[in-house]
Amino acid sequence: MSMKIAANGGGNTLLQKVEALSGQQLANCYQCGTCSGGCPLAGAMDLLPDMLIRHISFGLPGVLERQTFWVCVGCDTCVDRCPRGIDVARVMEALRQIHLRERHDPPALAHLTDAQLGELPPIALVASLRRSTS
Ligand code: SF4
Ligand code: SF4
Repeated sequence: MSMKIAANGGGNTLLQKVEALSGQQLANCYQCGTCSGGCPLAGAMDLLPDMLIRHISFGLPGVLERQTFWVCVGCDTCVDRCPRGIDVARVMEALRQIHLRERHDPPALAHLTDAQLGELPPIALVASLRRSTS
C-alpha cells in the first residue's frame, strides 16, 4: 500500500497549523517513544503519541480522525519526560482546536442565502473568515 507523504513545511498544512498553535517544532522529535511509554492513557489511544507526531510530520492522512488527542488528559507526564523538550500535551490541544474548527464549527456562510448574509453584522463575517483561515 502506498502512502502519500508530504514534505515537512510546505504543503503539510496540518503540520504548519499544529506548530503554529502549539509553539512546538515537531522536527525536533527523534521518535524515542518516551512520551508513549509513560503516558497513563496510552492503552486507550488509537495512535500512540510518538506515532501521532510522526504521522503529522510526514503528512500522513487520517490524523484528525484519530481519538488519541481526545483521550489525552493533559497530565504533562510526556512533557516532563521528553528528552527533546517537546510539549506533547500542547500538540494534543492544538489537534483538538483544529478538529473543532474544521469539523464541528465550520464557517456556515456558504450555506446562507443572500438575504441571511445581508442580515449578519460585519463582525460575524470577520469572525467566520478568521476561523476559516486560522
Ligand atoms: S518523548 Fe519527545 S522526542 Fe521522544 S518520541 Fe516523544 S515527543 Fe518525540
Ligand atoms: S499529556 Fe496526554 S499524551 Fe501526555 S502523558 Fe498525559 S495523557 Fe499522555
